[in-house]
Amino acid sequence: MSHQNYDVLIVGAGPAGVAAAYLCHRQGLSYLLIESGKRVFQGIATTYPAGKNVFASRPKDSEEPFRIEELSPPEKPVTVEKYLQYVEHFVEHEQLNLQLETSFEEVQDERDGYLVSTSQGPLRAKKIILAFGSSIPKELTVYGDAKMVAKTLDDPKKYIGVRTLVIGGGNSAADVISSILRAKREADDDQPVYWAHIAETFDVNKDTAQRLGEEILLGGHIRLLPGARPRIGEVDAQGVDRLVIRTSEVRQSDGIEIYNALSFPMKNVLACIGSQGPLPMFDKLGLQSIACAEGVCRIAKEGDRLLLLTADYESTRKGIYVIGGGISPSYMCISGSSIQEQQHPNLIHTAINDAYHVVEVIRTKIKPAE
Ligand SMILES: Cc1cc2nc3c(=O)[nH]c(=O)nc-3n(C[C@H](O)[C@H](O)[C@H](O)COP(=O)(O)OP(=O)(O)OC[C@H]3O[C@@H](n4cnc5c(N)ncnc54)[C@H](O)[C@@H]3O)c2cc1C
Repeated sequence: MSHQNYDVLIVGAGPAGVAAAYLCHRQGLSYLLIESGKRVFQGIATTYPAGKNVFASRPKDSEEPFRIEELSPPEKPVTVEKYLQYVEHFVEHEQLNLQLETSFEEVQDERDGYLVSTSQGPLRAKKIILAFGSSIPKELTVYGDAKMVAKTLDDPKKYIGVRTLVIGGGNSAADVISSILRAKREADDDQPVYWAHIAETFDVNKDTAQRLGEEILLGGHIRLLPGARPRIGEVDAQGVDRLVIRTSEVRQSDGIEIYNALSFPMKNVLACIGSQGPLPMFDKLGLQSIACAEGVCRIAKEGDRLLLLTADYESTRKGIYVIGGGISPSYMCISGSSIQEQQHPNLIHTAINDAYHVVEVIRTKIKPAE
């Protein structure tokens, strides 16, 4: 474990997290930026369609400029690929303290801050900025551990020469399979891709089905596993992390189960099982939220739970701040003795400007004399 107690641990290298890291760097605060994905702006890389233009949009009625011009998308829109390339170059050039493929998991209170559990081991920090966006990939729930299973396809070539398992029954799973089949076809690899889904039917739209159908007609080897259930994450005798997936199971009246199962090295498995909002994570961390009662909220719907934050984005767990898309489209703002719903548009502008505000607040707490 690193013995360093960072001033600030920033979770999520999207626009909010990268902006926060850059500002900590400029302010001389010690910090670490962790990102579960394989690159900065992983959230954007995963969710934007290829070739999409990125707009420097501002919230309606906001006169506030982008507080960090260096990270703002250009006024004349560029494609997402160009913007990502620019940001990657920026992070490298500024030598931001970034740790990729590190998933934030839990936080424990300590005397002088927090002990944070991550997929790469524990870390210590005085303050935490949660900037993990609005769509968090769902974890596979299996007995044991399935942390090594990939959730995004960064490089289809990685799966050449190996039998690959893709889990999930929707468009993103189908798209991932098309890309892997294409890479395999171009490399003359006839190892199949297994496509497993917990339900009996797969659910993809026409365009996606067409792309996949084309790859199959061009020779792609695919094995369908409908009604298949990921069951166990385990380490085998050779030390290889494996995922066991049951392809059929029958429970007999005397309690005996008969099943067929396949076991894949986890590095050959991709789970495209969708994403969820950040509420489960807020609950796990014990950050308070409030349900919108009738007539109280203008943006959220009745019954929606909104995170409770101060005007400085500090949660009900002191020293833990939440910024960016994770608190969009609105949160409950505590000001004085009242609590009010506060609009919070999910834009790059908002994410960057939140970071500016929060790092300023943290700086005055950590270095009060300056
Ligand atoms: C299709 C699409 C088009 C859009 N177009 C525009 C546009 O043109 N202009 C605009 O201003 N806005 C646009 N937006 C909105 C904009 O992308 C978001 O407002 C912005 O990305 C929010 O930034 P963020 O840093 O809060 O979150 P994100 O960009 O989502 O970044 C969060 C990061 O946290 C990481 N993460 C998640 N969980 C963990 C964890 N447990 N541990 C470690 N890391 C974690 C994720 O991998 C991700 O990289 C668009 C959104 C979508 C979906």
